[in-house]
Amino acid sequence: MQNLNDAQLLKTHSYINGQWHQSEAQIDVTNPVNDAVVASVSNAGIKETELAVQAAKAAMPMWSAKSANERAGLLRTWFNLMMQNQDDLGRILTVEQGKPLAEAKGEIGYGAAFIEWFAEEGKRVYGDTIPAPSGDKRIVVIKQPVGVVAAITPWNFPNAMIARKAAAALAAGCTFVVRPATQTPLSALAMAELAERAGIPAGVFNVVVGDDARGMGRVLTEHKDVAKFTFTGSTPVGKALISQSASTVKKVSMELGGNAPFIVFDDADIDAAVAGAMVSKYRNAGQTCVCTNRIFVQRGVLEKFTEKYVAEVAALNVGDGLNDGVQIGPMISAGAAQDVDKLVADSISQGAQVALGGKRGEQGANYYQPTVLTNVTNDMAIACNEIFGPVSPIIAFDDEDEVIALANDTEYGLAAYFYSRDIGRIWRVAEGLEYGMVGINEGLISNAAAPFGGVKQSGNGREGSKYGLDDYLEIKYLCMGGLGK
Ligand code: NAP
Repeated sequence: MQNLNDAQLLKTHSYINGQWHQSEAQIDVTNPVNDAVVASVSNAGIKETELAVQAAKAAMPMWSAKSANERAGLLRTWFNLMMQNQDDLGRILTVEQGKPLAEAKGEIGYGAAFIEWFAEEGKRVYGDTIPAPSGDKRIVVIKQPVGVVAAITPWNFPNAMIARKAAAALAAGCTFVVRPATQTPLSALAMAELAERAGIPAGVFNVVVGDDARGMGRVLTEHKDVAKFTFTGSTPVGKALISQSASTVKKVSMELGGNAPFIVFDDADIDAAVAGAMVSKYRNAGQTCVCTNRIFVQRGVLEKFTEKYVAEVAALNVGDGLNDGVQIGPMISAGAAQDVDKLVADSISQGAQVALGGKRGEQGANYYQPTVLTNVTNDMAIACNEIFGPVSPIIAFDDEDEVIALANDTEYGLAAYFYSRDIGRIWRVAEGLEYGMVGINEGLISNAAAPFGGVKQSGNGREGSKYGLDDYLEIKYLCMGGLGK
């Protein structure tokens, strides 16, 4: 990979106990733009994953004994280094993942913000005193780190999905092992390089890269020395990992798939709704868990919204994310583009109409055209499944109760969005939507200060915000007796 200001950020071996572990077997990391190999990375496996868990266990007493201030200082240095190297980290991310460079740099800033946030929040892990039922006792509650944390993360946010978990874990006093997605290990390894430069001690932050997802996943979910397992990825894989974690009764948190409704009411500011739908749908070529998946438009504004929306989508600039002005890159793989194509073809066969796009992109095998479908119904496969691609299905509706029922008619419950200017409706709909996060007249909702997470089969636990540390802390109750005279 060329054009990095600091070539040392391109690491190609797993980072375990402060050391870079070379192995003979290699994995090729490819650029989704053209499938060209950009780096070959050592292919670690079960043995290295076990080593990483051992290292994290050994580092636990030292790391948890540090004061919150000391940990905060190290995390802040890590944050500063990420921001100082934002250009290089963004470039590495674009080349392995495909999202446009401006968006990739945005992800670095977003991921780093969680490190800054938890560096500060770690100083506020307060305990409690509780009035005791008898005078000779006192009840005190303290909070302690859970122990070794293991994580598995997806390819769609190769930096931020790790930062969100690691920052909270480290701030709470836990040590950490992550297995990043096979397609995007370079961003994870660059984070390890910067963690080392920040002075985070050996064994505290470990990255194991390998293509044996199942075998490495078994170690991370079933190892007796891992106290907590945290996962971001698809719901089916999440379910399997929850059940594996049951064997040792681990604490688990899950950030899984979504099927976000985006609702436009008759009283909405239509230009704002179009802008919100654009940002919530087409970011990362539609490959985010909070991406709009179904656009419900009330019949009175259906034509107006659709016309304006199609015009905006048609103007999107598709291409290699390293080129100036590109707004949509390729999808992660040809298989992903093919899956989207199947959903589009299925909906057309069921009566949907193509207002724009509807085909694989001309730029290469991994591209899909930004697409808008009208005449979609909520029972079509495209509305029931996570599309994970640049396709907007538009579904017409008549009234508020009907659309809340349609929006909730899914096993998912991650993010939802709606546009309205009526204050009564805003409260009714916000409370009626069965989702962990609701954007109201807003299409971009995630930031370090806010609790990110879902309900139903979109997962459990929250990342970011003052609640984000809870998943990495145990509550310990101290009962002090014999205090009477
Ligand atoms: P995925 O197939 O579930 O993969 C996610 C991670 O799990 C990857 O590292 C993958 O490794 C690993 N994995 C797959 N099968 C495994 C197994 N049997 N045992 C252990 N690990 C296994 O999901 P994806 O397609 O990469 O990511 C997209 C999904 O993530 C979408 O559903 C999206 O909604 C969800 N997501 C959710 C959030 C959230 O915060 N809720 C955020 C981002 C993404 P390999 O790379 O080697 O396959």
